[in-house]
Amino acid sequence: MTPEALVALANLGRPRRPAGTSVARGEPILPDLAGASGQLAGLLDRPVTEPDLAGLRGVHHAAARAAEAILAGEPVDCAELNALAADSTARIELVVTDGTPSQRLTWDDATPASALARRLITELSALDPARLRRCAREQCDLLFYDTTRSRTRRWHAEDPCGWRERQHTHRTRR
Ligand SMILES: [Zn+2]
Repeated sequence: MTPEALVALANLGRPRRPAGTSVARGEPILPDLAGASGQLAGLLDRPVTEPDLAGLRGVHHAAARAAEAILAGEPVDCAELNALAADSTARIELVVTDGTPSQRLTWDDATPASALARRLITELSALDPARLRRCAREQCDLLFYDTTRSRTRRWHAEDPCGWRERQHTHRTRR
């Protein structure tokens, strides 16, 4: 499983250099409702509302700290995430499939922030810390999760970091 929410949240606000531009830009993190809705579009199924903004900023903060802790080989602060996820509760249900009884947990997330915090906890409990890394291109600060079997991925993305780095290596070798 790729910790998509963790990586996406931890990368918010880090300078990016889109193809065709020469200056890296760090955008403000969850600045207002429109900005936050855009930045979290891939993680939430609805636009951000005013009452949710503070909680979502808290979740971003927790994700960024958790990622930095993993990169530094330090323990993640569980209390911060657990407090954010406290409004997510589950109830247990008995279900019968083809005559066989089994149990099912049905989740109720009171807020988008608690839903996202719950997802982070699931991701953090399943990830391989050695696969979470920083892009190897010097000018890039983005994080990525290496899912290759060989664990040899070096760039957060081929475009632009992979090919720019190879271009650079090629030029300096000649
Ligand atoms: Zn990169």
